[in-house]
Amino acid sequence: MHDFPNLTVIDHPLIRHKMAVLRSRGTSKKIFRELVDEIAMLMGYEVTRDLPLKDVEVETPLETTVAQMVSGKKLTLVPVLRAGLGMVEGMLRLMPAVRVGHIGLYRDHETLLPVEYYFKIPSDADARDCIVLDPMLATGGSASAAVSSLKRQGATRVRLMSLVAAPAGVQKMLDDHPDVQVYIAALDRELNDAGYILPGLGDAGDRLFGTR
Ligand code: URA
Repeated sequence: MHDFPNLTVIDHPLIRHKMAVLRSRGTSKKIFRELVDEIAMLMGYEVTRDLPLKDVEVETPLETTVAQMVSGKKLTLVPVLRAGLGMVEGMLRLMPAVRVGHIGLYRDHETLLPVEYYFKIPSDADARDCIVLDPMLATGGSASAAVSSLKRQGATRVRLMSLVAAPAGVQKMLDDHPDVQVYIAALDRELNDAGYILPGLGDAGDRLFGTR
């Protein structure tokens, strides 16, 4: 249990199982990538639960009926480079028509603040709901900066989807962006001195892309 009003922990036996394998240091890069993809897809089901629907007329082979389709503002996925890329395909499998923007951030060694080095999103971002993808919500610095950039471009409805979060990161998002709901698969204990989540799963980017 937790007391964060901005946090939804998506709790499902399949997600818990896959998270256990994901955390294990013995899991290969190939399996790690597949799991991030699968967990993102399973989480996507819940993250999109409140999407508005509209009635549409459909001709079945037998008669005409009224069914529902997703309506309203279009969605944009915004992976934070580079680890967020691992979550894109799983979400695209659920929603092949959505657009994808990208935000690149690195942490300045002196100020320890996130610096944006890449920002490219669909030009009509203000008409779109954004789902920011970043597997690790650690200090929350880059997720918060990514959301700020999207809001500056006119995005009004933003959600954040991470696999693992530390309480400090969730609190940072609550302080900076109380309107942004944070969806995660697991809320971990704390950050270590280097900013890694404990127990966590290590460096998600390194494990996805084999850099280390
Ligand atoms: N980023 C990671 O990849 N892992 C952490 O534990 C924290 C930040």
